[in-house]
Amino acid sequence: MPEGVWAAPGRVNLIGEHTDYNDGFVLPIAIDRHAVVALGTRPDDRIRLWSLEEADPVDVSFDEVGPGTIHGWGAYAAGVAWALRRASGSPGSGFEGVVTSSVPIGAGLSSSAALGSAFASGLAELWDAHLDPIALARVAQRAEVEVAGVPCGLMDQMASILCRSGHALFVDMRTLSIDHIPADLTATGVELLIIRTMAPRRLVEGRYADRRAECDSAALALGVDALRDVSLDRLERAAGRLDARRYRRARHVVTENARVLAFVQDLRGGRADGLGSLLTASHRSLRDDFEVSTPELDTAVEAALSTGALGARMIGAGFGGSVLALAPRTIAGRIAAAATTSLPEHGFAAPDVFTVTPAGGSRRVG
Ligand code: ADP
Ligand code: MG
Repeated sequence: MPEGVWAAPGRVNLIGEHTDYNDGFVLPIAIDRHAVVALGTRPDDRIRLWSLEEADPVDVSFDEVGPGTIHGWGAYAAGVAWALRRASGSPGSGFEGVVTSSVPIGAGLSSSAALGSAFASGLAELWDAHLDPIALARVAQRAEVEVAGVPCGLMDQMASILCRSGHALFVDMRTLSIDHIPADLTATGVELLIIRTMAPRRLVEGRYADRRAECDSAALALGVDALRDVSLDRLERAAGRLDARRYRRARHVVTENARVLAFVQDLRGGRADGLGSLLTASHRSLRDDFEVSTPELDTAVEAALSTGALGARMIGAGFGGSVLALAPRTIAGRIAAAATTSLPEHGFAAPDVFTVTPAGGSRRVG
């Protein structure tokens, strides 16, 4: 018998890509698409889970779950129990549940964080484990990193747990201090359009690890703890200490951090005009300096821009996934249609295009 139902959203990072592991700034919103899980405790030590999106159920004993012992989607879900037990000191208990999610899987909208955060929120309540929201986000992240074996930062889970409706979540990833920034763009007549390229993500993990290593090595050569500590001036003066590739990687991080701060200032000041060009500049930097875009993503961005989008960029780690376009409401349909025809014209699969709005974080819904 379910004892409760919990929902946790996916996320779109408005701006601040590949800045998180450089101690920098990010600005995600939670979106109005959720993982929803009904959970109940069991009298024995088993974990039994079903997902409407996955063929195979999970059926394991509590003590079996840990790094390297469980694979597939159960690692994200049951892995949360493992991480929560460690973080909270609660002995835990067997449990069962059913999950379904409206966050598309593998689209760069963090269906994995939505899943993990829904389980973390639900299990914490079932087990009476009182953790603050950031500690709860760490539990979901730890399941993903250590049990599922996917290197990811804390941003996705923080967004899924901490966001407020109508707001973006500004996070300083060095201190984890947060600020809720009003981001109700819909009220200004602008839609947040997601263009999901259907291309499979390619070699994501290896290339992600490469970028992290390049950033670390650039910071070391510049004599700082993290690229967060470098201004564009300082980077330009110290350019001789970096080879061309590391210079470009560093330039992306440095300029992207500045774009996040500018974006936040504009949102605070109610100035929507400059947001689009910050987004597009972010895309060009990710494409040219950080080299994490793909032809599909570039084509979707250009299709949106040439049809009148205020700005557009790839979102997520790159190498596939989705594009975010700021679309004036009156022409949002035209921009969606342009992306839908343009990708196949270039030999790519037709995208899935939909709008998102800034939603609130995880909560109990039943
Ligand atoms: P995303 O960008 O969507 O987070 P990931 O590859 O990081 O993509 O995570 C996707 C994985 O998360 C899936 O392969 C699956 O293991 C798990 N997952 C996400 N949503 C669900 C769901 N509704 N049911 C079961 N597993 C899910
Ligand atoms: Mg993910």
